[in-house]
Amino acid sequence: MTMTPDAMPFSPDTQAIHSGRDIDPTTGALTAPIHLSTTFERDGDGSYPRGYVYGRSGNPNRDALETALTTLEQGVEAATFASGSAATFSLLQALGPEAHVIAPQSVYFGIQQMLSTIFAPWGLGYTLVDTTDLAAIAQALRPNTRLVLIETPSNPQLAVTDIQAVADLAHQADAYLACDNTIASPVLQTPLTLGADFAIHATTKYLAGHGDVIGGAVVTRTLNPLFEQLRLIQTIGGLVPSPFDCWLTLRGLQTLPLRVRAQSQSALALATWLDQHPAIEQVLYPGLPSHPGHAIAQGQMSSYGGLLSFLVKGDQATALGVAAKTRLIARATSFGSPHSTLEHRASIEQGTQTAPNLLRLSIGLEQLDDLIADLDHALTP
Ligand SMILES: *Cc1c(COP(=O)(O)O)cnc(C)c1O
Repeated sequence: MTMTPDAMPFSPDTQAIHSGRDIDPTTGALTAPIHLSTTFERDGDGSYPRGYVYGRSGNPNRDALETALTTLEQGVEAATFASGSAATFSLLQALGPEAHVIAPQSVYFGIQQMLSTIFAPWGLGYTLVDTTDLAAIAQALRPNTRLVLIETPSNPQLAVTDIQAVADLAHQADAYLACDNTIASPVLQTPLTLGADFAIHATTKYLAGHGDVIGGAVVTRTLNPLFEQLRLIQTIGGLVPSPFDCWLTLRGLQTLPLRVRAQSQSALALATWLDQHPAIEQVLYPGLPSHPGHAIAQGQMSSYGGLLSFLVKGDQATALGVAAKTRLIARATSFGSPHSTLEHRASIEQGTQTAPNLLRLSIGLEQLDDLIADLDHALTP
């Protein structure tokens, strides 16, 4: 029930404000009402002239959000979900149990967990590879590989994968490419224009952008059988976002370009500052020329994003000690909010390769000098 994507001849920044936000025809309201109704009236002949039947199968707020996400990612349709995890979960489920999927070794921890604890017992085969290594992907492809999943930049390693090159590899093998675009957001990178078949989002992060709503989305480049199956899973399986969640996320999108560019600018300054700091062993940020994925990032991103990780000189205790000393930056998981957050990842990820001295920093919208002062205090023994 998604509306056709807006064909507006405006820049993405303008579309972020206007797409999916038609003036309400009944009242003239510029901001749409939240449609909480679970059910919609039929005509005397039994038809549904307004296109809506039941809140699980379709809702005006969800349609508006899906339209806006489709526009921003330059796709043809979007399906939104109750969480970012539900978005990827549903795409994997759409593959069916006979299929095989390739995913990054450093894939988001929750995806790794769902592959090993839910999908492997179901029958779905998977291989985790270093997706920055094209030869490793080529080697992992099997006759039944239907999907290659990448995450670039990745969480929390900030590894950069060449979207166009992996799209070519996947398509040669008759597989789809899905790119988790959560960290970059469509402001900095549009995977569908580089050949990816699907862009996945935890809208929880930058898209909703205020740390107050959990949500997810898959935007598709073409109407293909896998997306059709995904739509069935969304509406029949019912992992749908609430009308209020859709409304909040659409509200967040209006400031997405401004927020992400400001966060990205501060992140580059902070990464450069941290890189010179005597208490730091290494900074993982694609905007640094020393980052192994810097050249690829430069080619496929307009800026490098608001998330970075750094390794402190020392061990897990040193890293936890640094996190314990921040006063402005909150010790909390997640990223993409106006408030900056810092997290010791190894202690919440079990069985991953995340270094014990790694801290992940989500740069918010606070003044840069305040963030630098807080980190300098935390890093001073
Ligand atoms: C947060 C995140 C997810 C999961 O999203 P939820 O809304 O927390 O379920 C998936 N992928 C990436 C890259 C994420 O950062």
